[in-house]
Amino acid sequence: MKNFFQNAPEIKNTFQSDSFLQNYLKNKIPAEYQKSIFAHLNKVGDLAAGSWLQWATNAEANPPTLTQFSPWGKRIDEIKVSEGWLNLEKAAATEGIVATAFERKQKEFSRIYQMALLYLYSPSSAFYSCPLAMSDGAARALELYGTDELKKTAFKNLTSRDPETFWTSGQWMTERTGGSDVSGTSTTAKVGNAGYLLNGTKWFTSATTSQMALTLARIEGAEAGNRGLSLFYLELRDQNKNLNNIEVHRLKDKLGTKALPTAELTLNGTQATLIGQPGEGIKRIASVLNITRIYNSICALGHMRRALDLAWDYSKKRKAFGAFIIDHPLHKKTLNDLETKFQKSFKLTFFVVELLGKEECGIASEAEKKLLRALTPIVKLYTAKKSILISSEAIEAFGGAGYIEDTGLPRLLRDAQVFSIWEGTTNVLALDFMKVCEKEDALKAVFEVVQFTANSKLLLDAKWKNTENARELAFLVAELVIESIKA
Ligand SMILES: Cc1cc2nc3c(=O)[nH]c(=O)nc-3n(C[C@H](O)[C@H](O)[C@H](O)COP(=O)(O)OP(=O)(O)OC[C@H]3O[C@@H](n4cnc5c(N)ncnc54)[C@H](O)[C@@H]3O)c2cc1C
Repeated sequence: MKNFFQNAPEIKNTFQSDSFLQNYLKNKIPAEYQKSIFAHLNKVGDLAAGSWLQWATNAEANPPTLTQFSPWGKRIDEIKVSEGWLNLEKAAATEGIVATAFERKQKEFSRIYQMALLYLYSPSSAFYSCPLAMSDGAARALELYGTDELKKTAFKNLTSRDPETFWTSGQWMTERTGGSDVSGTSTTAKVGNAGYLLNGTKWFTSATTSQMALTLARIEGAEAGNRGLSLFYLELRDQNKNLNNIEVHRLKDKLGTKALPTAELTLNGTQATLIGQPGEGIKRIASVLNITRIYNSICALGHMRRALDLAWDYSKKRKAFGAFIIDHPLHKKTLNDLETKFQKSFKLTFFVVELLGKEECGIASEAEKKLLRALTPIVKLYTAKKSILISSEAIEAFGGAGYIEDTGLPRLLRDAQVFSIWEGTTNVLALDFMKVCEKEDALKAVFEVVQFTANSKLLLDAKWKNTENARELAFLVAELVIESIKA
């Protein structure tokens, strides 16, 4: 055993190695845009297998730290992040991972292009994709409902390609009383000299190093429950870099997403600006959630791709029973079955991205808009579960090595678990789909746009009226939609 060693799995340019992505883009993107998009994705594929991956490794190895007090006793609540994390932020700005979607230079195809960028970036980003998701969602909310002032400032920063002016945003919804159910939100807002002053505690706030956040609060005197909630914009620091009356209690000790700062914090008279009208909070934050749920799906997809790329590569290096494991038919079939699961997830996710692109460019039909609304929770829950399954199987495909921390492989599974929790758990999203079906007749939209196949008759079954079956219904819809998506 003295000289025993194994060759580690490797990845190469992740765009060049991804023929499924390339074929999809060749079919969907008009010829006039293809050359420049392919050239950019090729560059990004190189970075994802090179410097970004090294930065992500650095960020994972050096998780964020919180220093609450200066040596002289002043409360400072300073969160320090790694060099790798900071570099990943700059890269995201430079490559226009948020900006591409809002510049809309490729019209409705801009979202496809941008999500392809994110898909390549995310598995090498140590979850920098999380602040980007919330920033994109916030940019969309400000584009739709922001004041002219905020459009000129915050929106411009969120969609900047210049690392010096690029901003990210938090999305602070979860309180101690709940993340799925925000009706118990206890943060209050009272009118101050300039805008509102917020008071309350937020229990999960990722990307706490962002420059701004969108959050929910109840204006004093407003009714209880969801209808009393309003949406607010706030900046974390003032011009002197002092926190905006915010106290950071601690950073969460998480199963995965180790490089991402996720904090518990209290707002103690934090200056904020109302977005939209009082009481419109839930409606307005929905535009953020639509985006973050689609981001989650793309990141889950990128995660699956990475797990599979590593497993395929290893299968050509590891020998067992006298042959490379890829040459054992059962191992090959195991990987091929996972590959099929990935491809189905890919089809569904990019189908939803196409709808998003059309909606944002104002060319989606009414049925397509409903379909987008209906399929957003579906694609999120479906891809999250598939990425956990694929990550688990991919780890097994490495045998014992998959279980060893310093191979970096266990991270695949720890990180994948978050996809099904944040931005809505599986049950909550399945129920959300049922609600859309009831309220907006979304099932009809599914039938109108998606080819009616013999199997889709299953959807007419009366048992789906029962919320107990919501999950089953959601996965059935996902499979039927995938079945009917043309190449
Ligand atoms: C790493 C990480 C980072 C996060 N970052 C942020 C952030 O930046 N901003 C933010 O706002 N939040 C953030 N969150 C919080 C996250 O969005 C919530 O944890 C999530 O939405 C679930 O809410 P909860 O924790 O209250 O779970 P609960 O709602 O208590 O859910 C517990 C269980 O009950 C089930 N359940 C709940 N209601 C129903 C129902 N009606 N029917 C059936 N089942 C139900 C759920 O599916 C789940 O299995 C983060 C979470 C994590 C893990």
